[in-house]
Amino acid sequence: MGDYSLELNEDQLQMQKWVHDFSENVIRPAAPEWDEREETPWEIIQEAADIGLYSWEAFTSFFSDPTGITMALVSEELAWGCAGITLAIMGTTLGVSGILGSGTPDQIAEWVPQCFGTPEKIHIAAFAVSEPDAGSDVSNLRTRAVYDEAKDEWVINGTKTWITNGGIDKVPNVHVVVASVDPELKGRGQASFVVPPGTPGLSMGQKFKKMGIRASHTAEVVLDDVRVPGSCLLGGKEKLDARMARAREGQSSRVQAAMSTFEASRPLVGAQALGIARAAYEYSLDYAKERSAFGKPIIENQGIAFKLADMKMEIDAARLLVHRACWMGRTGKEFTSGEGSMSKLKAGEVAVWVTEQAIQILGGYGYVREYPVEKWHRDSKIYTIFEGTSEIQRLVIARAISGVRIP
Ligand SMILES: Cc1cc2nc3c(=O)[nH]c(=O)nc-3n(C[C@H](O)[C@H](O)[C@H](O)COP(=O)(O)OP(=O)(O)OC[C@H]3O[C@@H](n4cnc5c(N)ncnc54)[C@H](O)[C@@H]3O)c2cc1C
Repeated sequence: MGDYSLELNEDQLQMQKWVHDFSENVIRPAAPEWDEREETPWEIIQEAADIGLYSWEAFTSFFSDPTGITMALVSEELAWGCAGITLAIMGTTLGVSGILGSGTPDQIAEWVPQCFGTPEKIHIAAFAVSEPDAGSDVSNLRTRAVYDEAKDEWVINGTKTWITNGGIDKVPNVHVVVASVDPELKGRGQASFVVPPGTPGLSMGQKFKKMGIRASHTAEVVLDDVRVPGSCLLGGKEKLDARMARAREGQSSRVQAAMSTFEASRPLVGAQALGIARAAYEYSLDYAKERSAFGKPIIENQGIAFKLADMKMEIDAARLLVHRACWMGRTGKEFTSGEGSMSKLKAGEVAVWVTEQAIQILGGYGYVREYPVEKWHRDSKIYTIFEGTSEIQRLVIARAISGVRIP
């Protein structure tokens, strides 16, 4: 019989420990400060770069694990320390996914290393899809890209919103912008463009103050007559023209540019949610053993002990879904039931639920900032919203299992 196993291999265990140590020693202690400051923690990103964790080489090695699990392990361990700082470190990978999802091999080789830079000169990246009137409904983008044939340049105009790392110009920042080339074709008339660091016309609009993940920068990106060379159209013009021609003839085509990127990254977002949930579970388990009420540790009440049992079970169930989706994605299995969406949906909702239970277990101490649990709850909530809300994940799953185009 075959080799079926859920055990992590030596390489995975080593990588998990390496990242966990960084998370425990560097990220977790810094988390409250950056939550209060609500700024990008450049010092922590620098430390991650210095040890080789923030680099395209590291991410290439995480992603090249043939089982697909390593990147999920890394994401979970980082977010166990602080999800906001994790997003400050991992936000760049959203832009990278945009390039990997649509770029040619030459474009990938040119731009992915530029997203990270080097420890001596850190770069970052952003993936800009959402707009004020197009969040869940990404087929409705208003940002326009028009081809200037004489100059072989694309001219991009529009406003993006909620963009992680969006508009930061303190360090070179590679923006991957999804824009509509032919609005009549909706999603099938869209394309992704690299906007190189320092391109005139791209600027930061409003920077948002958030409930959680406050160490991660979220802002509007304004694109005002942004001109990029023809070579910045990911996938190339020939391919785009052919796709749009097929769409005009009513033939089916590949999924939309933005959607294919999100589908690949959703299980990893779920893995971050798992990290928060695990942090809250571990903390509240220890607390329940130490805290006494009515002359005995509170864990000796079934009401508390069963809560912890459910928390652990839900986290483990969510992790199995995340690892399954990562494995399926990496080994080329067909997602027939929205397995990527399932993993993110379950992990996000588990994180919100587990962190709320953790607050309850800590009682008043759970509600104040001297203890980390209220922050974990605030941080967890975004995982039911970004990279597709829980409702949108349910829509994807429902359509996949039914074959019905549920509106
Ligand atoms: C902190 C943060 C970081 C983000 N980072 C990025 C980023 O880096 N890049 C990027 O492009 N975007 C980013 N986003 C945007 C994020 O992906 C969107 O906010 C999200 O997709 C939801 O879009 P919306 O906010 O416009 O909500 P809406 O689409 O307006 O949805 C509002 C509500 O209606 C529900 N709803 C909508 N349509 C349906 C439907 N058909 N059926 C049932 N319910 C429905 C939604 O589930 C939600 O509950 C970020 C957002 C935040 C808050």
